[in-house]
Amino acid sequence: MTEAQPEQFRAQSHAFNQALPKSAEESHGTDSKAPLPKGVVLDKDGKPCRTCTSVASWRALTKQAQQSSSSKTESSTSSATQSMPATVARSTPQPTEVPADCPPDVEQLGRSTWTLLHTMAATYPEKASAEHQEDMQGFLKFFSKLYPCWVCADDFRAWMAHPSGRNQPKLSGRKEFGWWMCEAHNEVNRKLGKKEFDCRLWEERWRTGWKDGRCD
Ligand SMILES: Cc1cc2nc3c(=O)[nH]c(=O)nc-3n(C[C@H](O)[C@H](O)[C@H](O)COP(=O)(O)OP(=O)(O)OC[C@H]3O[C@@H](n4cnc5c(N)ncnc54)[C@H](O)[C@@H]3O)c2cc1C
Repeated sequence: MTEAQPEQFRAQSHAFNQALPKSAEESHGTDSKAPLPKGVVLDKDGKPCRTCTSVASWRALTKQAQQSSSSKTESSTSSATQSMPATVARSTPQPTEVPADCPPDVEQLGRSTWTLLHTMAATYPEKASAEHQEDMQGFLKFFSKLYPCWVCADDFRAWMAHPSGRNQPKLSGRKEFGWWMCEAHNEVNRKLGKKEFDCRLWEERWRTGWKDGRCD
């Protein structure tokens, strides 16, 4: 994996500092020895990366941090205060109950981004001018560097840069670009153990709507 630019480090660290309760930040800074819950991905500064981690793993991390901070408090406070952690644990929402106005996890970010990417393909010219192709090439280059889940971005960039050249963006027109985007998405689906999408259907899914008329 390639190194992130310094600005990227700062931006991700800033986002993390805003997103995670202070107790979790303290427990999982670079000096922490506590094992992280399964699925938590660290940023390059050693702090948990919310946009690289699922809601479920993030919840586990937050809970762990709350328990760690309350067990420290418990040893030095009254029994009334000691009843707090159970209350907190019981009232912690499950992943499916995360309010819509919370920062995105890796899955929500991914769904929103694929919607943007496939819709860009769906509205791409049937035959793209040299300028349009150049613009899209530039967009994909920067997108694959700046995507806020850095592990996703690194893998996506590596896939595009396959030495054979076979994964380079196909930008001559809508059909080629839409198919390429579908293959790119399928690469991630395979990596995550998800079912592959039938790329013959990409236009129905993202441009025309399904033939049965349910999108009309
Ligand atoms: C560039 C990129 C890299 C990513 N890398 C990672 C990663 O490394 N690790 C990680 O955990 N997550 C990653 N994600 C997120 C991941 O791909 C999913 O978005 C996330 O797991 C949510 O998945 P989902 O099952 O809800 O549907 P999504 O995979 O988000 O798909 C949304 C919808 O797109 C349609 N669809 C599915 N496959 C295709 C296809 N091949 N072509 C056209 N349409 C399709 C389906 O209708 C589906 O419901 C990445 C996202 C992006 C944009």
